[in-house]
Amino acid sequence: MKFDILIGLGAGIFAFLLVMGYNVLPIGLLIAVGYFFWTFVLSRQVIKNGNGVSIATTAIDFEDIGGQSVAKKELQEALDFLLYSDRMKALGIRPIKGILLSGPTGTGKTLLAKAAAKYTNSAFLSVSGSEFVEMYAGVGAERVRGLFKRAREMVRKEKKTSAIIFIDEMDILGAKRGSNVSHHEYDQTLNQLLVEMDGLKADQGAHILVMAATNRPEALDAAILRPGRFDRQVKVDLPDKEGRIAILKIHTKNKPLAQEVDLEEIAHETFGFSGAHLESVTNEAAIFALRENADEITEHHLHEAVEKVMLGEKLDRKPTEEELQRIAIHESGHALLAEVVRPNSVSQISIRSRGNALGYVRHYPKDDLYLYTQAMLEEQIMVTLAGALAEEQILGTRSTGAMGDYEQALNLVEKMLLAGMSSLGVTDVSLLSAEQRQPVTKGILADLEERTMRIIEKNEQALMQVTEILKTEESLSGETLRAHLKHIA
Ligand code: ATP
Repeated sequence: MKFDILIGLGAGIFAFLLVMGYNVLPIGLLIAVGYFFWTFVLSRQVIKNGNGVSIATTAIDFEDIGGQSVAKKELQEALDFLLYSDRMKALGIRPIKGILLSGPTGTGKTLLAKAAAKYTNSAFLSVSGSEFVEMYAGVGAERVRGLFKRAREMVRKEKKTSAIIFIDEMDILGAKRGSNVSHHEYDQTLNQLLVEMDGLKADQGAHILVMAATNRPEALDAAILRPGRFDRQVKVDLPDKEGRIAILKIHTKNKPLAQEVDLEEIAHETFGFSGAHLESVTNEAAIFALRENADEITEHHLHEAVEKVMLGEKLDRKPTEEELQRIAIHESGHALLAEVVRPNSVSQISIRSRGNALGYVRHYPKDDLYLYTQAMLEEQIMVTLAGALAEEQILGTRSTGAMGDYEQALNLVEKMLLAGMSSLGVTDVSLLSAEQRQPVTKGILADLEERTMRIIEKNEQALMQVTEILKTEESLSGETLRAHLKHIA
């Protein structure tokens, strides 16, 4: 992009000088020579020098990776092919050439590749798929060739028997061929990678294993996944609660934790967090401790850090008195409903702006749930609708503050339709027209709005009590909130 702007700018200046009557021929020649030099000499040099390829001496063990026990086990099994290659050879098993790690971002795929290198005592080269994509034809393919050559050189230099080439963002390099219409270059690069992998043989002196990572395995060209190429696929998922505890332990090992800190509770609160999020929580907590000049990291620092990672930095945005009243009513509405339908579920309610939110209610997630019943979905929808309905009940009108809530409610209704929980029964929702879907969606929402409104009306006094306290305190813990909602029904 920057390069395009530069070319445009250059052409403009060139034309201007020409119009002004300057002799631009020598400058033109100079630019042409420079361009040739860059394209055919320098860019080749860059490939030779392995620009973009990072070579790390990896000191990561599988024990340094929290959770992911299934992924680690599958990976270690695959790596044993490399470690015991003589036995494999004796049995006529063909060597493994590629392992694909797939899963959400920040779950430890890079760490697993590094640990694999240490486990197998291999040389390690890491490169990102995006670094192969160049505007010059053939550069990507040549980079791939250079990469394999370099891996062999490293094995020789480091006196090892194997090398692991780790390609991150594989979906950029290995997208379905033909999907990048304007870029023939992508296809050439991918073809070259496949050629290199097909040519890998154990008796070339060095065994090269390609490990690739992607967040979008569905975008990969089928040829990549063909047996004999990336024929091992390891799923690296978001960590479950046990995994989160293990990751938190790893990242607090070098930090002074106060005695009262319960990492299990932090793990409970952080459902859906990746390893990278959890690392960030421990780091932010240490920064909060530093800001307060504390010697130890306390529960309070960790809770603050979870909120920061989840919702973003606190903002100095100052709403007007009137807005603040509305925000407090809105958040109290959410909290009230949450405590009625799922007692003890609110962990925090606040009217301090954070990230995009003017206020927020945080809930304790139910223990790592992967299935939801109809009742659970309906309750969640009622909690999301309660903010706007509380505004309507107390102030007579709704506001734009509920737009995000409606989006969430509609997503949950969509889930109900897909799961056959609506009056349509089990049906292929994608075949329904908007006219068929709309009345069903509307019906579900109207019914749940009515149920929510009844609860708000019944508990209006408690709602206003929480609103008033929230306006002075700005933020309340779940326990304090519940003390004011003792008599709700
Ligand atoms: P991406 O898909 O974005 O490249 P990734 O899956 O490769 O992400 P990593 O780069 O391995 O993720 O992880 C990023 C950081 O998150 C690590 O350096 C580490 O601090 C932390 N992390 C992630 N997963 C784990 C884990 N399972 N155990 C310990 N730390 C982890």
